[in-house]
Amino acid sequence: MGSRNDHAIPNHLVIRSNPVPGESMIGYLRRLCIANGYDTLQWVFHKNIRFADELFTEENMWEISDVTGCDCKIIRRNSYCINGWHGSSINFHGIKIDRDRIDIKYLNICPDCLLESPIIQSIWDLVDCTACPKHGTNIVNRCPACRRFFSWMRASNTCECGMVEYDDYFTGFSSENEVACAKHISFLLGNKVETEAVPGMTENIKRLSLEDFLYCVNRVYSIPVYEDENNCRVKVEMAFPDKRICVSYSMGILMDWSAPFYNHVEKISKFIIGYGGVHRVKKRAERNFLLASFLGMMGEVASKIDGTTEIFDRKWFDINKSNNLI
Ligand SMILES: [Zn+2]
Ligand SMILES: [Zn+2]
Repeated sequence: MGSRNDHAIPNHLVIRSNPVPGESMIGYLRRLCIANGYDTLQWVFHKNIRFADELFTEENMWEISDVTGCDCKIIRRNSYCINGWHGSSINFHGIKIDRDRIDIKYLNICPDCLLESPIIQSIWDLVDCTACPKHGTNIVNRCPACRRFFSWMRASNTCECGMVEYDDYFTGFSSENEVACAKHISFLLGNKVETEAVPGMTENIKRLSLEDFLYCVNRVYSIPVYEDENNCRVKVEMAFPDKRICVSYSMGILMDWSAPFYNHVEKISKFIIGYGGVHRVKKRAERNFLLASFLGMMGEVASKIDGTTEIFDRKWFDINKSNNLI
């Protein structure tokens, strides 16, 4: 029987490091698991973790700290949220953002960045960051060969099909507007990828917080489509089926503020009133309800950007008068 090795540190990974600035918690764990020869992140935890958002609990943060040897304060700071995960706002590297604005269901990556460094960046988890701010290429979450989504749980840099290495393929260039959005997000996160102002971006947009900027981008491409009576809320859908087109569309409107925005408000208002939205809401009262909620959303966007609702109220009055919408 062998004697206990007093030099080994129990429960600690052999190869360790702290997370680097901007690295996602899942990216950090993947990096350490790969370095230590584990094939899945599950090895770090006692409990079975089925979904990525189950990872961000206080208990798991302590476990990560224990296994990696990294101070729990640093682990907490780099994780998205400890408490109130299902609440509206979460901690995103010290910045408050809406929970809905991040996507951790799958692994989102820029292969060009990964080729330069093995760091999986948090910014790629932001729903509206569809382009790499550095390379101007698409952020992707599925394999170009087999179309499988990249798994956040697997500790490997090769797709399950074995055909594609994450740092070894071209994803296509993003539109100018998507890149402008990504660069501005990067700037607001303090990454300073944006060395000079994004061309065409107005001062009104530049002074928004990250939370407000993401809110405005998302709201401009969202259309209320039906009322969810059980939850007493209106369901919204993306104006276009492709998220990248949505971001491009919103950024075009936000950067040329404000005339295209009011055209958008007019167009969608007519759509809701005329057709009842995608789901063809028949009753006039329901259509008016959807219109009211759409205008509420747009009023919020306008007040964040203009700093007042007065301009929006006046413009909406003009649109309403000329179209006799209600
Ligand atoms: Zn990149
Ligand atoms: Zn594949």
